[in-house]
Amino acid sequence: MAREFARSFYSSKAWQDCRDAYAKKAHHLCEECLKKGIITPGVIVHHVEELTPLNIYNPEVALNFNNLELLCRSCHGEQHNERDKARRYSFDDCGNVFVKEKYLDENPSEAPR
Ligand SMILES: [Zn+2]
Ligand SMILES: [Zn+2]
Repeated sequence: MAREFARSFYSSKAWQDCRDAYAKKAHHLCEECLKKGIITPGVIVHHVEELTPLNIYNPEVALNFNNLELLCRSCHGEQHNERDKARRYSFDDCGNVFVKEKYLDENPSEAPR
């Protein structure tokens, strides 16, 4: 489940258009797998710089192709695992810093096909 503050963002037309356009630009292939020469369908448009209540309304972060990566489920999981290891804190729904338990989920069920 996407965290509360992100829910309206992920259901917004702006994000859905951006996500679909990005997936198309990436030819609907997982970019991490492609780096290893493996062809895998990309199903999740991932934010490289993690969305927080402070940046989610900033199009330079939230809707910037340079901050997006199209991934398959397994690479997406890896990206978040690495990020979780690297970072011990995040923001709660009110923008307060807290010690991190779980990451933002881009809601794979809504990913482009
Ligand atoms: Zn992959
Ligand atoms: Zn992600």
